Amino acid sequence: MTSTTHTRSARFDLRARDLTPGGVHSNVRLGGPRVCFDRGEGAWLYDIDGNDYVDYLLGQGPSLLGHAAPAVNAVVAREARRGSVFGSQHVLENEAGELFLDTVGWAERVRFGLTGTEADQAALRLARAATGRTKFVRFEGTYHGWLDNVLVTSVDGRIRPASAGQLAHHLDETYFLPYNDVAALEKAFANHDDIAAVIVEPVMCNSAAIQPRDGFLDEVRRLCDRHGSVLIFDEVITGFRVALGGAAEKYGVTPDLAVYGKAMAGGWPVSALAGSAALMDQLTAGVVHSGTFNSSVPACAAVIATLTELRQAPPYERIEAHGGTLMRKIGELGAAHGVPLRVQGLPVAFHASFGDPRTIHHHAELEAIDTAGYAKFVEVLVGHGIWVAPRGIWYVSAAHGERELNAVVDRLDSALAAETR
Ligand code: PLP
Repeated sequence: MTSTTHTRSARFDLRARDLTPGGVHSNVRLGGPRVCFDRGEGAWLYDIDGNDYVDYLLGQGPSLLGHAAPAVNAVVAREARRGSVFGSQHVLENEAGELFLDTVGWAERVRFGLTGTEADQAALRLARAATGRTKFVRFEGTYHGWLDNVLVTSVDGRIRPASAGQLAHHLDETYFLPYNDVAALEKAFANHDDIAAVIVEPVMCNSAAIQPRDGFLDEVRRLCDRHGSVLIFDEVITGFRVALGGAAEKYGVTPDLAVYGKAMAGGWPVSALAGSAALMDQLTAGVVHSGTFNSSVPACAAVIATLTELRQAPPYERIEAHGGTLMRKIGELGAAHGVPLRVQGLPVAFHASFGDPRTIHHHAELEAIDTAGYAKFVEVLVGHGIWVAPRGIWYVSAAHGERELNAVVDRLDSALAAETR
């Protein structure tokens, strides 16, 4: 397949727009190409017009084991026969909790939830309760969910609320700093004694997949210790992806609290908040976190099956090889067609755009690259059977092998030829 038609998808979209605002159930899906998928299998997606796509979006990250991973879905289907939620404990919870904590390695307690957004809020609340302080530090270009105190956009380099109706004063809780800048964090701690927490995406997958400079996360850890602040890793993307034990394992830095989501449950909706017993046990001493669907039977089954699979057949080396080759091929194909395609990041989660190939180290440098031009090119990619995000992130799964590599290289070659025609 080299060029797709989307007649049925277009018809579906028209009807969808009558039913739900913009035809989509998450604002992230408002932009970019609109395709109605029939199903996903492994690293492939199939739409209702009969087109297939090599998928490097993985549903925004969750399908690390590929779509409809049999090792996960069979367990979820079997266990769901028990029911879903009982308003009490159930027999899978301890197994999921033990496996989760053993896999993460450093944490003593876990609470399961549904989304990264809510788990981030619980982490911030715990940090405030533990320190008696109100503010937190975060870094420009990170994403910690869509709620009032964390949702931002940048206009002319200045941070602003991203949504109409958002209570802008909730952002007053935050000190925004450039990522990878230890001096800025030292200064913030020197100037403010009200910092409850530093929350960081250990790799900035929401911002050009910027990696931490050598020692940056260690310095953040050291400064949090020195100033009595809680270090929160937002591992919603990095957890179980950049290593089995997430960024904490990969970079050898242990946070006080961490938030997980996406890859931890093979595509099923589960998030987790994990941390030391001292911090987490505040949830029995005045700090509230709740949710009707938390730790449902299917959720626990999905966690157990996913983590078991990741531990028994770790896909990390294969993913690294696939992603590394793909990053190189993208650069080579771009050069061959005279298109300034640049990539940076980790093989398992990298960022593509047009423009200056030099590595970006913090959010402000994104101005040097052409993210808008690349977002338009994504329509051409989709037309050639490559499903990726307009914002540039490419996720590689355990299901991406040689067949997918050959397909994506062929299709990218055709897309670049069409782009330059
Ligand atoms: N934190 C990070 C780093 C994320 O990338 C996301 C979502 O993309 C979230 C939090 C929010 O997670 P969710 O979409 O599950 O609410």
